[in-house]
This record gives sequence, C-alpha cells and structure tokens, in this order.
Amino acid sequence: MSDTADVIVIGAGVQGSSLAFHLARKGASVILLERTTIAAGASGRSSGLVRVYYDLLAEARLGWAAQAWFREWGERVGGECGFTKTGFLWIESADHRERVEANVASHRAMGVDSQVIGPDEMRRLYPALAVGDEVAAWEPESGYADPSMTTASLVAAAKRHGARFTSGAEVTAIRTAGGRVTGVQTTKGDFDAPVIVNAAGGWAKRVGELAGVDLPITVWRHDTGYLGIPTEVPRPIPVVIDVANAQYSRPEGGDMILVGLEDDNQMGGSADRDTADAAPTFRDRAAERIVTRFPGLIDGTFRSSHSGQDGLTPDQRALLGPVGAAGPDGLYLDCGHSGTGFKTAPIIGLAMAELILDGAATSVDIGPFAFDRYRDGRLLRGEHGEEVTWR
Ligand SMILES: Cc1cc2nc3c(=O)[nH]c(=O)nc-3n(C[C@H](O)[C@H](O)[C@H](O)COP(=O)(O)OP(=O)(O)OC[C@H]3O[C@@H](n4cnc5c(N)ncnc54)[C@H](O)[C@@H]3O)c2cc1C
Repeated sequence: MSDTADVIVIGAGVQGSSLAFHLARKGASVILLERTTIAAGASGRSSGLVRVYYDLLAEARLGWAAQAWFREWGERVGGECGFTKTGFLWIESADHRERVEANVASHRAMGVDSQVIGPDEMRRLYPALAVGDEVAAWEPESGYADPSMTTASLVAAAKRHGARFTSGAEVTAIRTAGGRVTGVQTTKGDFDAPVIVNAAGGWAKRVGELAGVDLPITVWRHDTGYLGIPTEVPRPIPVVIDVANAQYSRPEGGDMILVGLEDDNQMGGSADRDTADAAPTFRDRAAERIVTRFPGLIDGTFRSSHSGQDGLTPDQRALLGPVGAAGPDGLYLDCGHSGTGFKTAPIIGLAMAELILDGAATSVDIGPFAFDRYRDGRLLRGEHGEEVTWR
C-alpha cells in the first residue's frame, strides 16, 4: 500500500496531533502516523498544567498564546480539552523575589493577568497552603486541562479537516532521494510526502536516526501520584509550581491532588520502558514533600502513581523547525519538549504549520527553538537566571 500527502507527521501525541490539525485546517493533505494509539507516550501521562510563567520569555509567549486555545477550545478546535481554571502560583523563596518580579513584569507587558504576591495574599486566596516568607507569581486565569482528551480532540478535528490518521503504524525507515525526504516505511506499508515531521516524543532520537540525524535528545522519566484530599482541607486548591520545595501539584476534580517532583527524575534509558509504575520510593517522597505546602494532606490517602517519559534536550527546551544542514531537506522537528510540551501544543502546531506551508511562523516566534542553536552553541537560558527545572 502506498499513500501520498503534502506532509507526514510521525507521532500522535499532543504535539503531532496539534500539528496535523493545523496543517489540515490550512488546507494541506496530511497523514498522521502512530505506532500504537493516540496519546500513548508523554501526552497520556502528562500532568496537564496550563500556565504562562516561564523564565524564558520566548517560552512564556508560547504559553500565553496557547492559553486562548484552551479557553476557547469548543469554538477553535471543537470537542473538549477539559480546561479548568483554578489559578496558578509559582512559589519561590524570598531571596528570589527580584527574578520573580522581573519575569512577572515581562509577562504583564505581554498582557498576561499576573502579579507578584506575598505570604498573606497566598494564604488569603488559598487557605490550605502553608507559607513562610516566600514570594509567588499568581496567574488567576491559569489552571490545567486533560491531556488525553485534548489529544483525542485534536485528532478528531484533524480528521474532520481531511487528515488521514493511521494507528498501529510504526515508522521503520525514512526514505530520501537527492538529499530530500520522499516518504516513510511503516509496519502498515509505505507513505509518501515531500515533508516529514518528527513528533515522536521520547522516541524522537530514534526517529532522527532513521534519517541519519543525531538529535541531542535523551529520555526523561518522571513519576506522578494522586492523593485523596481530606474533606476538612479548605478549598479552592490552585495549581502550584513550588520551586522552593522542588515540587508541583494541581487538583484533580474535587477530591484529589496530583503531585510531581522536580528532583530525582531519571535521565536516559529506553523510550520503550513500561511506565505503569512509579519508582518504589516515589510515594513516600511525594507524600512527605507535599505536606510541607499542604499540611492538611497529612491525612490524605495515596490513590495511585505512575511514570511517564518525554524527550529531553540539554537546555530543556523544545526543538522546532527544519533539521537544516544536519539532515535531508523536508525533515522537520517538533520534539524534545522536555517535560513542558503539553500547554504549548495548540500554538506550536499552528506556528509549525505556518512555517511548513507559508515559509514563516507568523502567529508566534519559534525561531529561538531552532535546532541550529546546538550547532552554534546558543543554548537557551532564562533572561533572569533561573536554573533548569528537571534534576
Ligand atoms: C509525567 C509527565 C507530566 C507532564 N506534565 C506536564 C505539564 O503539566 N504541562 C506541560 O505543559 N507538559 C507536561 N509534560 C510534558 C508533555 O506532556 C509533553 O511534552 C508532551 O506530551 C509531548 O507531546 P509529544 O506529542 O511531543 O510526545 P508524545 O506524547 O510522547 O507522543 C509521541 C508519539 O509518537 C509515537 N511514536 C514514537 N515513535 C514512532 C514511530 N517510529 N512511528 C510512529 N509513531 C511513533 C509514540 O507512540 C507517541 O504516541 C509532562 C510529561 C510527563 C511525562
């Protein structure tokens, strides 16, 4: 069987699905190929935080532009993404006040509803929190969404716009002729296109190798768990990135909280590992850590935990755009999302579709995420000196 399109997208995670949707919506013929099922990789395990705060302005811009899509999902995409506005706090120790203020100022200049608040205001807004003398960026409009629902909704919308989706089709070879891509070989036959996009998440390095490209991507493994929230813990519960304690959390419905830790993530290993279970020590560590911020959870019950894997780059930022001189013409990257690529998917898909079809991304600037930053030694760093997130 051979099938032909303008663009082949490899991987039906949230990024590949968003790109397929935007390409098809702009009138391109698209084939979306997935080795197993929709959201089988990072997207199906994602914690789903939707926020703007980043220390790198280019990334905050993506978060901000994407948020409008989550808020207006029904009209813009159709279907459901499960966006829940809870408010978001980025909490840092008081000695980092200056950088929080600088980041918030740059986010406010983009139009984001964000402000710097202190302990009294944090406790007033969210009485369940234990706060010392810390400082926070507060985004009342941010929250979380449902990553599996979001991805499935994007695939359905892509199909409505004419995209062809094939599950159970693992790409096993990328074909080239005269220095440019011509198609792929899969476990379900051959497909032809002059443009191929690697959106293979934790498997992106392996897919790059199929075209002879060595991508600077390793596998990042991250555990998360759900605790039941005792009824006496005061609501509302916000989404929190608690930099001061290297953890993050968000409510899950009315009676559970999801917890993840920034430290002790596993770097490296196979993308094929099973992710059903978190590390044996994770539950104790997460339970101990979360009560430092939500003391009422001391009586919480641990409900479940699991792991997830994403592609991680050395500066923990995505690789977006053509592979350039490092590989064949027509090969594009939408990968290396480094544990932060859920919230940005709706806008990255649009920007990548513009780049591929029109020659330039006009909705938002994705230039800083180009692959050649590694060739030229221009790794991305936040403007106000924060460290990388995952350790
Ligand atoms: C536990 C966890 C929590 C996270 N929390 C957040 C969060 O709160 N907020 C946030 O913004 N981000 C978060 N992230 C990051 C975010 O989920 C990912 O960056 C995003 O889901 C990546 O999407 P993707 O489409 O690039 O990759 P994936 O979802 O991994 O999709 C890649 C797909 O490619 C397919 N594939 C691989 N190889 C082939 C092949 N050869 N042929 C065909 N198909 C192939 C895979 O089966 C897979 O379905 C989290 C990630 C994890 C793991």
